[in-house]
Amino acid sequence: MNILVINAGSSSLKYQLLNPETGELLAKGLCERIGIDGKFTYKPQAAGKQVLDAVDVAMPTHSEAIQAVLDALVDKDNGVIGSMKEIDAVGHRVVHGGEAFNQSVLITDEVLKAIEDCIPLAPLHNPANLTGIRACQSVMPGVPMVGVFDTAFHQTMPAKAYMYALPYEYYEADKVRRYGFHGTSHKYVAGRAAAMLGKKPEELKLISCHLGNGSSVTAVDGGKSVDTSMGFTPLAGLPMGTRAGDLDAGILKYLMNKYSLNIDEMLNILNKKSGVQGVSGVSSDFRDLENAFKGGNDRAGLAVDMFNYGVKKLIGAYAAAMGGVDAIIFTAGVGENSASQRMAIASGLEFMGVKMDEAANNVRGKEAVISAADSQVKVLLIPTNEELMIAMDTAAIVKG
Ligand code: ADP
Repeated sequence: MNILVINAGSSSLKYQLLNPETGELLAKGLCERIGIDGKFTYKPQAAGKQVLDAVDVAMPTHSEAIQAVLDALVDKDNGVIGSMKEIDAVGHRVVHGGEAFNQSVLITDEVLKAIEDCIPLAPLHNPANLTGIRACQSVMPGVPMVGVFDTAFHQTMPAKAYMYALPYEYYEADKVRRYGFHGTSHKYVAGRAAAMLGKKPEELKLISCHLGNGSSVTAVDGGKSVDTSMGFTPLAGLPMGTRAGDLDAGILKYLMNKYSLNIDEMLNILNKKSGVQGVSGVSSDFRDLENAFKGGNDRAGLAVDMFNYGVKKLIGAYAAAMGGVDAIIFTAGVGENSASQRMAIASGLEFMGVKMDEAANNVRGKEAVISAADSQVKVLLIPTNEELMIAMDTAAIVKG
């Protein structure tokens, strides 16, 4: 079975062709500058096939972009499948499913309408995701399409975790609540953690730390998300590459008055100029910060310390929320690659049964147990694979 996974942005489209049963990746790539001049990248995974790297392909709309993907996949010399018939279904990443979607779903007209209804909650992302779905429907008529939502995994949170302490009508009338994001990643690594530990998801209390350019931590109790650090938008929770994370809302008024900022300017600062970039003044990339700190830049060190401390506090909070924790998972760019940050985050937690193994932690990018053999709480490194999770969900739905 082959599933085409699509992640459509407003002027770009990432794709992968995967076999969800074996996990095999057949090809992946990227369409960029859609509606501008069109650049097409194609990376077949079989030996001897030609890679295309940002070649010119006219893409006035997402439809031509999808057509370029299909043409490359079935190309008689460099393709990876014989014909389009070998694509069983398409899985679409959709950012926001609001309260309408608590799992992935076969796309119908009603589903498209419900995704449209969520546009106010994700005004930049959902329209682009919808454009990608409609383009696929026009180029691949009759092929089943599935929507996989970043928010869906978190719909199991109890009200005490997702409510903001605002007047209740803002929840009832305006849907203002914590939704959480990175759900596909948290779900994938939670499933892998259960497999690694040889346990059923229902038996486990997990804390999943997705630490990348955007970061979130999720408490997963019995296979279900019960709390997560991102909120109504992905701006909440940890300080991130350029996002501020949680802060006292009173700061907004103070700064907006003092510097005559309007709300868009203020939000631009909170989204694009804050986080570890803002604190360090160096970079949003944790590798740059580590190097700058080694070179004597204390603010770079402070930015990383603030981030690590934020993750550590969430681990403590979520262990308390669940009444314990069986395993802590590190994933995404920082979680998969930075041994020093994993160590900084998970050390000092011996009081709650977490004991790291320095040698075991000296790995990157592959599944590993990085806690000591006698650690009561296992610490796991699990590379995330959102595309595979989308393909697995899509396959399960198509098979009924
Ligand atoms: P996103 O998908 O949110 O854009 P990623 O999950 O790819 O982000 O993570 C990107 C982050 O991972 C960057 O800040 C990068 O510095 C960090 N990263 C990648 N490799 C390393 C490393 N070896 N050490 C520390 N951080 C790393």
